[in-house]
Amino acid sequence: MYAGSGNISKYSDMEILGFALITLAVFVGMEGVTWLTHKFIMHGLGWYFHEDHHQPGYPHVFEKNDFFFVIFATPSILLFYFGSRGELNWMFFVGLGILLYGICYFLVHDVLIHRRFKWFDKTNNWYFRGLRKAHKIHHKHLDKEDGECFGMLFVPMKYFREARSVPQKA
Ligand SMILES: [Zn+2]
Ligand SMILES: [Zn+2]
Ligand SMILES: [Zn+2]
Repeated sequence: MYAGSGNISKYSDMEILGFALITLAVFVGMEGVTWLTHKFIMHGLGWYFHEDHHQPGYPHVFEKNDFFFVIFATPSILLFYFGSRGELNWMFFVGLGILLYGICYFLVHDVLIHRRFKWFDKTNNWYFRGLRKAHKIHHKHLDKEDGECFGMLFVPMKYFREARSVPQKA
């Protein structure tokens, strides 16, 4: 063992497992937080920032809706800061769960569904087709009220069933 390797080994296997479970639980929990935020804040008091996102044919370069990324990034940055002062602690891994969810949300919603960047053009599996269909349904509503499908990485099962039952051309 050389001197520099001490940092990792001071955590026991149980601690490392615990950190991984925290990150995973926060990632899953963030889908619930997103659903609640989308339904009650973005389609509520925060509609001002979300409204342009529901306008058909807007350019998607910068959206007022991007404001919500800043809102979610703030706790994540604070958690990284307080979670890495001295020894790494649980706060760091809560922040990590939020960040990883944010990255997946961005890739699914902004890249794969709304095509703000032309990456991953070939993505077409049933999971993604289900998500895209559900989000298209969400966007059918142009106003604040009567929305549906507020989630992003998990949507009602019927969309996944539908997507799987439609045969895909090779
Ligand atoms: Zn919406
Ligand atoms: Zn959009
Ligand atoms: Zn959208």
